[in-house]
Amino acid sequence: MVSNQTIIASENAQAQSDEPYRFVADCHGNLVYLSDNIKSALNISDGGSDRGYNVQNLIRFHDPDLALRDAPSFGGQDRTYTECIQEGAHALTLHIGNNEIETSFHFDRVQSQNGREYLVASQILQDGDHNEELTQSLMQLIPQEQANFNDLVSFEEDALSHFLALSNDIMVVANLDGRILRVNSHFLNNLGYDNDHLKNLGFLDLVHPDDRALVRTSLQSLIHHEDRSTDPAIDFEARVLGSDGNEKWVEWRQCRAEDRIYCVGRDITAIKDHERELHKRQRMLREAQSIGHMGHWHWVVGNERIEWSDEIYRIFGVSEDDFVPTVESINSKLHKRDVGRLLQAFQRAIIEKNNYDMEFRIRLDDGSTRYVRCDGKCELDDDGDVIALFGIMHDITETTLHELELREAKESAERAYAAKSQFLANMSHELRTPLNAIIGFSEMMQRQLLGPIGTEKYLDYITGIRESGEHLLDLISDILDMSKIEAGKYELDLEELNLGKVMRLAVHMVEGRAEDAKISLSMAIPNENLHIIADRRALMQILLNILSNAVKFTEPGGSVKLESVERENYISIKVHDTGIGIPATKLQCVTNPFEQAASHYTREHEGTGLGLAITKDLIELHGGTLHISSTVGIGTTVIVRMPYNAYEEQQKRGKR
Ligand code: ADP
Repeated sequence: MVSNQTIIASENAQAQSDEPYRFVADCHGNLVYLSDNIKSALNISDGGSDRGYNVQNLIRFHDPDLALRDAPSFGGQDRTYTECIQEGAHALTLHIGNNEIETSFHFDRVQSQNGREYLVASQILQDGDHNEELTQSLMQLIPQEQANFNDLVSFEEDALSHFLALSNDIMVVANLDGRILRVNSHFLNNLGYDNDHLKNLGFLDLVHPDDRALVRTSLQSLIHHEDRSTDPAIDFEARVLGSDGNEKWVEWRQCRAEDRIYCVGRDITAIKDHERELHKRQRMLREAQSIGHMGHWHWVVGNERIEWSDEIYRIFGVSEDDFVPTVESINSKLHKRDVGRLLQAFQRAIIEKNNYDMEFRIRLDDGSTRYVRCDGKCELDDDGDVIALFGIMHDITETTLHELELREAKESAERAYAAKSQFLANMSHELRTPLNAIIGFSEMMQRQLLGPIGTEKYLDYITGIRESGEHLLDLISDILDMSKIEAGKYELDLEELNLGKVMRLAVHMVEGRAEDAKISLSMAIPNENLHIIADRRALMQILLNILSNAVKFTEPGGSVKLESVERENYISIKVHDTGIGIPATKLQCVTNPFEQAASHYTREHEGTGLGLAITKDLIELHGGTLHISSTVGIGTTVIVRMPYNAYEEQQKRGKR
């Protein structure tokens, strides 16, 4: 240990006038030979060690500029302090323990048999004292093992060494020129060096090139710190290179005592890796929150301050430097009507221990409004009491504004639609009265009830007037029905009726048209006595619409068939024709109002495009469904599924 080697000044240490002081140092300044008079003055016994005592401890040149060439600063230099000492005579102060002796020494640089260079120094008592032989004879005195890299002795030399061996810290003793004098075994194990490696390295050689400037500065401040009594310990983090070239992060603590620098380092590579990983994740979280316009918050019950992530500061349009989030300060940013809700939500959550969510508005400094959704949870302690609330805040301004716009557009469209329906209903109603008169009077004239009409041609015109009037009345009745259904004002008049009879009547009503068009019309009613509950007029309208379409869109020679099939929960009424069919692309929309599968053929047929829309609505009012399947050129099948009891169906829907 260094303390063992600390040189204790002998009280009797006196320069013996007849014997010059002599010493030999290796290139690192280690004293490998001391004359007896120095040893006794330093209280070093013959067998005692002078290891670790450096030439820099022993002498101070009166004129360093003359004695030293290119004196090195700490470490990383090619040459050591000893190598800088110029050969020849130099005036100096010899420090032996507490004694300082002003004298002169002669310095020689000599190469030993093992090829190493040594500095041989002998005191000049009288002029001409120094000669070459003396130097050579001194060289003989250098013990061979001392010339080896033997300063790297292990610490396991005394009791303290056992403690040190237990330590996971790296320990290094260096001299002021940066040469590593000692290391502990953990250093060797951890960094993978051996003594041979280390003897060629300075402390700075171990440090990662990027951190060398920092370490050099720290060490220089240690070396140049004049006040020894207040030796500062210096802390810093720097990467160290292992023998395999891998870097390790080390937290260093260094201090200087006498002319040694003591370094303790803790391997913090794992901590640094975790730190890096943590930073990466924090960065990713920040970015994800910023992309999602969402931030997280945490409030410990009883604390004034609420913790916010960066994104919430952005959402509130404030900066972390000048806004402290508390319930009060947050309230000050809220829209007047939302103030207090946050506190209430928090209070309720604490009492009920429930998750909670709320939406509020923030007034930004520029007068604009930001919509925020806050979702939170409670954090419970072991007793189940709420100790904190945490959650997220989500900037939903964009979606909320979009929703508001959509809602407004929907409402105004509905208002416009209702106005249109109302207008159509009123108009149809108003038109029906004069139309009925036109039809009624034209019929009377056609029958010539009040006397004959003189000119035959007039009779043709009157027939035209009547037919046109009836067509207009159909159209207006359809529009009125549609408007009523859309306005929700179509009331079904439910009654028990014989389905077979209604179907028969409907077929009968289109028979004439089918005959004119040379289409065979057939019917299959398996149960003549099947009674269902439905609106007679509506059912008739449904059947007539479907049947007349089938006749209308079937070419001469084709056929139309009406049949009913009883199923468990419904009655299926099917109308099949061998007509022109409906293109697949139009199938979905033919039941929309005014929609026609417009082709050159269909346009030749009169119609408003309201028939199927009304049919579908009437069926659905009964709780039934309408299905159409069709193949162009082959034919169309329309299937109406009606409940046996529309009343029950209405009741069920009402309950839902
Ligand atoms: P329209 O008054 O035009 O008949 P509908 O609502 O009853 O109105 O029918 C809509 C459109 O569906 C018709 O214009 C026609 O193109 C098509 N369509 C309906 N039934 C048939 C059918 N049986 N065969 C071919 N096309 C049909």
